[in-house]
Amino acid sequence: MASVEIRDVRKAFGATQVIHGVSIDIADGEFVILVGPSGCGKSTLLRMVAGLENVTGGEIRIGDRVVNDVPPKERDIAMVFQNYALYPHMTVADNMAFSLKLRNAPKSEIEQRVKKAADILGLGHLLDRYPRQLSGGQRQRVAMGRAIVRDPQVFLFDEPLSNLDAKLRVQMRTEIKELHQRLRTTTVYVTHDQIEAMTMADKIVVMHDGIVEQMGAPLELYDRPANMFVAGFIGSPA
Ligand code: ADP
Ligand code: MG
Repeated sequence: MASVEIRDVRKAFGATQVIHGVSIDIADGEFVILVGPSGCGKSTLLRMVAGLENVTGGEIRIGDRVVNDVPPKERDIAMVFQNYALYPHMTVADNMAFSLKLRNAPKSEIEQRVKKAADILGLGHLLDRYPRQLSGGQRQRVAMGRAIVRDPQVFLFDEPLSNLDAKLRVQMRTEIKELHQRLRTTTVYVTHDQIEAMTMADKIVVMHDGIVEQMGAPLELYDRPANMFVAGFIGSPA
């Protein structure tokens, strides 16, 4: 596990600046949710933490290491996307083993890690199936399995539930929280869904047009929104 520090990070695509000096401290083991309307910069920020986009300015630290120039593979993070494409021609077990094979892990270690991840996620009886033989929720669990087999220091989730129907979404929220309670892996989770943010986060970061409007515990934002935008977005019904 490791802390993540985002220090005055900026991002421009060409002449267009989309992230304007964002700073967020994420403690070891914390579950932080970035929330905000579509286009506010959530994915871009997450992709910079992952190393999939370079930063235009500022600094990103994972643990005690500045990672601005560290390639994604060396950051010890695992990312789960909205469009978690599983490899259709590989079994569940092979899908989960793939990233370990890429890293040349020994076969016995791969088997052991896949088994452990499958146990944690309740996938033990599905290891020989192919993705087309799974339900949406099972596929989502396999996508998480691929992330946890590596036992990374940090999990990054980008709207992992937005392709699921409402009922499954509620169920998966609980499962992801339970997974976090069990593993305590530092997590940065992006969503545009206020309810997901309110129910899952230790700390919520409300973004808007490339800046942070407010961050804090869910109830703190709910009870004491810093401005009209946060009040409207977190949606106090009063
Ligand atoms: P969110 O995830 O909050 O919906 P994004 O991080 O995807 O927002 O996008 C933030 C802004 O950056 C948007 O205006 C988007 O159009 C722009 N953007 C994202 N990626 C690129 C890119 N590769 N090139 C140019 N503009 C981009
Ligand atoms: Mg996005």
